[in-house]
Amino acid sequence: MTFSVFGDKFTRYAGITRLMDDLNDGLRTPGAIMLGGGNPAKIPQMTDYFTQLCADMLNEGKLTDALCNYDGPQGKDALLQALAKMLRDEFGWQIEAQNIALTNGSQSAFFYLFNLYAGRLADGSRRRVLFPLAPEYIGYADAGLDEDLFVSAKPTIELLPEGQFKYHVDFDHLNIGDDVGLICVSRPTNPTGNVLTDEELIRLDALAQQRNIPLLIDNAYGLPFPGIIFSEVNPLWNPNIILCMSLSKLGLPGSRCGIVIADEKVISAISNMNGIISLSPGSLGPAIALEMIERGDLLRLSNEVIKPFYRQRVEQTIEVIRRYLPEERCLIHKPEGAIFLWLWFIDLPISTEILYQRLKQRGVLMVPGHYFFPGLEHEWPHTHQCMRMNYVPEPEQIEKGVQILAEEIERAHQED
Ligand code: PLP
Repeated sequence: MTFSVFGDKFTRYAGITRLMDDLNDGLRTPGAIMLGGGNPAKIPQMTDYFTQLCADMLNEGKLTDALCNYDGPQGKDALLQALAKMLRDEFGWQIEAQNIALTNGSQSAFFYLFNLYAGRLADGSRRRVLFPLAPEYIGYADAGLDEDLFVSAKPTIELLPEGQFKYHVDFDHLNIGDDVGLICVSRPTNPTGNVLTDEELIRLDALAQQRNIPLLIDNAYGLPFPGIIFSEVNPLWNPNIILCMSLSKLGLPGSRCGIVIADEKVISAISNMNGIISLSPGSLGPAIALEMIERGDLLRLSNEVIKPFYRQRVEQTIEVIRRYLPEERCLIHKPEGAIFLWLWFIDLPISTEILYQRLKQRGVLMVPGHYFFPGLEHEWPHTHQCMRMNYVPEPEQIEKGVQILAEEIERAHQED
């Protein structure tokens, strides 16, 4: 079978595909301990809420209405209006419905945006996407139509008390070449749970404005919803910032609803791409989000249910890790948000890829760190010393998984 260049690139077994496969296999394997993928928690209060909400919407004909109609290519108009008002009220941003477009999950928004701002230009020159702080989200790594679309920068590492550490943008060595067409950060960051400080974000925004290129902030876990953010920071938006949000981590990954907030010209570009690629974004997620906003529940539940749930779960998980793994064996990135813990096994005699395989054989799924450095130009041993674990599963599952992890770490040290 002969595929096009596009076909060859997009039919590869990418890191993200392996992750989704593991997730799927794990879900079908009895007893597997799934600390790998990015599925949000099934928070009973949220599940009950969605069940009741859908029942009400079905009774009122709103669900059928959403199912049986296409929305426009920019997405459900009533939601765009309601979201714009909510963001104006909440943050004072000058946002109208023309500043928002919906996509089928925020993952597809990144595909659009990376390829809008990077790749080959009409004059033959090339542009790339800069991740100013790697590790970054694995889902970005293969989303470029062209090869070598991404370049990323190593962070500085601040060691903190209690066996924790935090990455920072290394502004002293950050090189924003003339070929950079877009700067992109996730905040909170998947995989590390890092949250860029306000100062870091403001500095990145200033650098982007100086270069006349947009700053894309992936806010899939952030404020004002789903609110899985534990540090006191402020969200940022201005017309040079493209802010991406999602309904997924609210508990609705199956709704595949991404939200792009940007300057009107960017929104018009996204709408046109939506039209060509998918006619219009799906309507069910937006109908549910609209209903939640109208009932005053979107921000309330983010604050009162989702955020406290994850905060409690992450604290509990760190306690379990420390019961089995001392600081000399494992440092933990300061958990400031998102649904993962990023573990650094400083002196591990084997790579975390081998550790991943050994864990998988024992029914525990985590993700080895090297996938999260897309575009890093020089080999860095640190990339093979880290592992991402999802802290969402039930505490008993987490404890079993951590126990096996600690055994495998010990085994690797004994073999050395
Ligand atoms: N951004 C980050 C940082 C993520 O972790 C994820 C999913 O895990 C996404 C974006 C994509 O989310 P979705 O396409 O479900 O909106």
